Amino acid sequence: MFDIFKPFKAKKKKPQNVKSDIEPIRYITIRGYTVGYFLKRSRRKTISFSVKPNGLEIKAPLFTRLNYIENCIVQKFDWIYVHLKKIEERKAYCQNALQERIIPYLGHEITFRVVPGQCESILKDNVLYLAYPKNKEVSEEGIRLALRKWYKSVAQIYLTNLIRDRLMKVVFPRYPFTQFRLSSAYKSRLGSCTTKGVVSISWKTLFLEESLIEYIVSHELAHLTEMNHSHRFWELVSQYCPNWQYCEKQLKTKGIVLQFLD
Ligand SMILES: [Zn+2]
Repeated sequence: MFDIFKPFKAKKKKPQNVKSDIEPIRYITIRGYTVGYFLKRSRRKTISFSVKPNGLEIKAPLFTRLNYIENCIVQKFDWIYVHLKKIEERKAYCQNALQERIIPYLGHEITFRVVPGQCESILKDNVLYLAYPKNKEVSEEGIRLALRKWYKSVAQIYLTNLIRDRLMKVVFPRYPFTQFRLSSAYKSRLGSCTTKGVVSISWKTLFLEESLIEYIVSHELAHLTEMNHSHRFWELVSQYCPNWQYCEKQLKTKGIVLQFLD
């Protein structure tokens, strides 16, 4: 099923007249699997591997021989395979969801219908009527854009209200709350907090159950008092969110859903 791990072409346009040091995609077959990779050479001393949403990237010194690099890939293959497979699974999850018109929302699934020419998206009886530009052909990329726009607009209101509500529990914070910012982060950075009292929460939290969103917000608001993960910090979190340990475990299982629409 995952016999070819082909990297995507990078979405960003390269500035003109700048010569790229990324070579064209190369392929190597290991244990019956063909893996595509980008090779990026630079003035560095070691070889590094990273599996990104657009594929496997290898950084290598300028003059390292290709067969040496390929030997390193073979040695690292188990690690590469696991990570590329996860990315394939996430892509498949996203494509299926868009094709089936089923998307995650507050921990459950809702369906959506594309409505060209409608100005604003409307959620009614668990069906999202998705606003879509009138004269634009309906495409996967267009749907992704429209969905992101909808999630962000809902998240702005939902999270602002939740933070306002939860702030009532924060007594004598060391860094008083000053501002809420909507972010696009995922994984371990679903939320963040600064010593200036700026709390950022990702709009992607809207894919999760409400209890988990409440935990994420509680976690960041606890940082207004304890800017660390000390024992005192977790004590504070448990005051705001007694089942935080369960929520932490649950969040670790949400890798696929959190990368929806990436
Ligand atoms: Zn934290």
